[in-house]
Amino acid sequence: MADARPVEFAPFSAPRRGILVVFCGDSLAFGAATTRFLRPCGDLVTKAAAAQKFTGKSGAVLDIVMPRGLRADRLVVIGLGKVSDIKPVDMLRFGGMAMGQIPRSVPNATVVGELPAGALTPAQAVDLALGMRLRSYRFERYKTKPAEGALKASTVAVTIAVRQATAARRAWAAGRGLGEGVMLARDLVNEPANVLFPKEFARRAMALRKLGVDIDMLGEPQMKRLGMGALIGVGQGSEHDSRIVVMRWNGGKRGVAPVAFVGKGVCFDTGGISIKPASGMEDMKGDMGGAACVVGLMHAIAARKAGVNVIGAIGLVENMPDGRAQRPGDIVRSMSGQTIEIINTDAEGRLVLADVLHYVNKKYKPRVMIDLATLTGAIMVALGQEYAGLFCNDDTLATRLTAAGEATGEKVWRMPLGKEYDKMIDSKFADMKNTGGRHGGAITAAQFLQRFVGRTPWAHLDIAGTALGSPQTEINKSWSAGWGVRLLDRLLADVYEK
Ligand code: MN
Ligand code: ZN
Repeated sequence: MADARPVEFAPFSAPRRGILVVFCGDSLAFGAATTRFLRPCGDLVTKAAAAQKFTGKSGAVLDIVMPRGLRADRLVVIGLGKVSDIKPVDMLRFGGMAMGQIPRSVPNATVVGELPAGALTPAQAVDLALGMRLRSYRFERYKTKPAEGALKASTVAVTIAVRQATAARRAWAAGRGLGEGVMLARDLVNEPANVLFPKEFARRAMALRKLGVDIDMLGEPQMKRLGMGALIGVGQGSEHDSRIVVMRWNGGKRGVAPVAFVGKGVCFDTGGISIKPASGMEDMKGDMGGAACVVGLMHAIAARKAGVNVIGAIGLVENMPDGRAQRPGDIVRSMSGQTIEIINTDAEGRLVLADVLHYVNKKYKPRVMIDLATLTGAIMVALGQEYAGLFCNDDTLATRLTAAGEATGEKVWRMPLGKEYDKMIDSKFADMKNTGGRHGGAITAAQFLQRFVGRTPWAHLDIAGTALGSPQTEINKSWSAGWGVRLLDRLLADVYEK
């Protein structure tokens, strides 16, 4: 259970104590219900706004302590800017902004679920609630002393006053699961690698059985039998055995091919024998962000009983440099039969994915396959941390992913694939080598993966810039944003559940 404040819905007439949060548009445009709530305090808001030069600009906040006439002991007015500029995706952000005004020490808070243009629909209320909950998420399980005055987040709910409280509660049953999925992904990425090694990661994924997810696990003996030399090579320098976990959600029609998601789960990446520099290496506990996203996604779709067949497969390894570790120059044989010359043991993610992608493609014959991986530093050089890199062999799938990205704010930017790039990973000694050099590093990594997906429509998301050390936004104040769960949940809902 994630550490975040629960959200409840109450009708507009709910009693109000503690903090009251309301929204307003440019030129102090309030909705009708908000205006009614504020009537007892007369011209207080107009006067305070004039004194503070507050006009309702996007992101501006007017904070009035002990507002006369109201029962609340603080009134917070949040500016949303020009009403006609508000997009559906902004609702999450507004929720984040509202929660940002509610200190952890305050047990009672009500957010009025109304925009200047009118009361929130149940779907908008759910997005607002999701934004609030994600904003309140914290990863503090290793802090033995709580912050001064802070209440335990999970015990004190914030109320959203909405017109259709019953309908909002019903809609929240699904939206809530999505939030839990995002926070599960965040938890997994934030966990240190001494706690979250492959076996423990697998154990946490297995907990999804409670939600009706079927789960199979492969240990090293099975992987050896299947000939997964690429994945096994990465984990062989670690004391921790590697694992593959395959999660199956059968919510669609029987016999319909599944949508498959594959996640890179390098629980810690030292680089192996091609060891990384010390500075910043601690961040490599997050090199399993792709696998975390897949687990979070499976949670979300199982919680809302999505009407679609989905496979979620994660390759879990630890990349360490001990006496048995693989060396530069080694040649391994992947499950597909293709051989790989290891040039740099730090280019390990693609080796893990090569075997998992081939395995999933062969065994489950998915209609489409999408992998997520914190794969290359090169993608951050190209795109920074605002967009994940999208590599795709299918224009329709690329368009759909791009649309889901715009709709959720988890944006992807399509990068090229092509023969010329593919040549860069040809090897003198084997079928391919595991790096293509510095130039186009994110692209040659994707070319490598493409050699393991056959003709299946496939997309690769390089999330090295978005999954960890994530940008701080109104809905994320954590080191990990749990990036991709909302994106892929949306893709499934918009495309594959129709
Ligand atoms: Mn690496
Ligand atoms: Zn890595």
